[in-house]
Amino acid sequence: MSGPIEWEEVAGGPNRVNCKKQAFRLTLADTNRDNECKIGRTDCAVTMPRHLLPTTVVGSYPQPDWLVDRALLSKSVPRTRLQEMWRLPAAHLEEAQDDATIVAIRDMERAGIDIVTDGEIRRESYSNRFATALDGVDAEHPAMITARSGHQTPVPRVVSRIRRTGPVELRDMQFLRKNTDHAAKITLPGPFTMSQQAKNEYYKDHEELAMAFAEAVNAEALDLEKAGADVIQLDEPWVRNNPDLARRYAVKAINRALAGITVPTVVHLCFGYAAVVPGSTKPAGYSFLSELADTSAEQISIEAAQPKLDLGVLRDLSGKTIMLGVLDLGDPKVESVDTVADRIRNGLKYVSADRLVPAPDCGMKYMPRPIAFGKLKAMSDAAAKVRKEIS
Ligand SMILES: [Zn+2]
Repeated sequence: MSGPIEWEEVAGGPNRVNCKKQAFRLTLADTNRDNECKIGRTDCAVTMPRHLLPTTVVGSYPQPDWLVDRALLSKSVPRTRLQEMWRLPAAHLEEAQDDATIVAIRDMERAGIDIVTDGEIRRESYSNRFATALDGVDAEHPAMITARSGHQTPVPRVVSRIRRTGPVELRDMQFLRKNTDHAAKITLPGPFTMSQQAKNEYYKDHEELAMAFAEAVNAEALDLEKAGADVIQLDEPWVRNNPDLARRYAVKAINRALAGITVPTVVHLCFGYAAVVPGSTKPAGYSFLSELADTSAEQISIEAAQPKLDLGVLRDLSGKTIMLGVLDLGDPKVESVDTVADRIRNGLKYVSADRLVPAPDCGMKYMPRPIAFGKLKAMSDAAAKVRKEIS
C-alpha cells in the first residue's frame, strides 16, 4: 500500500507530530499541511505498530541445532569467520539458512513481537558477516589479540582502504521483507565496534578507521532502507569497553553511519551476551551512555534486566525513544508475565509511554529455542497488560 503520509499533532512539543502510519514521531519539518511527507516516504511503513509499547527483539534468535554446531558456536563470538560452525555443505547452506530464517520470523510473529528481524540466522556473529565482507579487511590472515576475557582471539586485520564493493545484507533484508507483514528491522554492526574488533595496519589512527567503517555502514544502510527496512539498528556494544576513545569519536562515527537514513534508527548497547559474560561480573552502569544523546539515532537500546540497571540514567536521554531490555537472558527460566510487566512499569517511571519499546536485553542467539520463544511471548503478554493499564 502507498499514499501520502498522514500526521497528527501530539503532545510533547510544538514541533512533534505522529505519523499515523508509523509508531514513531517525526518532526514537523518532515511534513506539511498538505499531508505530504517531505522526507519522501510514500510507502510509509503501514506495518509499523501504532499502539504504545511496541515490542521488538534486539536482533538474533536461536539458530536451529540442525543448522549450526552449537557447541562450537558457544565457545566464542567470532570476529573473523567460523565456517565450520555450519552443519550444511556449502551447496545447501543458503537454502537451509532461508528455511531457518522463516522459522525464526514465524516464531517472533507467533510470540506477538511487533517489529521483527530475520533472527540473524545467516550470521556467525552479529558483526563478522558485514565486517569481513569489506575490501581492505583481511580475515584470512588474522591477528591475535587478548580479549577482555583473557583469551586469545583472532581478529581481522585492516590492510588497505576499507571499501564496500557491493551490498552485504541486501538479500537478507529483501528476504525478510518478502516473508513478513510485520514491521521489519535489520541490524548492522556499528562503526566504532568494528574498529575495535580489528587490527589497524593501514589507517593513521583508530578514528580514521572508525570513520572508514562508518562510510561503509552508511552505504549499506541506505540500500537496506530502499529494500524496505522499517527500522535500522547499529550494534555498538564496544563503546563501553573503551569509553575514552568512544568519547572522542563514537558519536561522530555513528552519525556518519546514519546520515540520510529516514526510517527510525537505533543504537544498541549491552554488557555482552549472558552466555559469555556472567551477570555477577556485569557493571551496574554504563561508562558511555549519556553521550549518545548527541547521536542522530531516534532510539537507544540498552540491556537493563540482567544487570538490574538503575534506570535513573535514562534521564540523560530524554530526547530519545528507549528500547528497554526487560528480559534477563542470563535467567534460564521463562520469566512470568508479571515479572516482565513490573520491569516495563519500572521503565515508565523514567520514560513516557510513547517513548518506550520493550525488548530483550540482547540478542537471543545463545539460548535454547523454546526458552527464547517463551520469553518473547511473556514480553508481548506483559506489554499488552501494561498497555491496557495505561490506556
Ligand atoms: Zn547486545
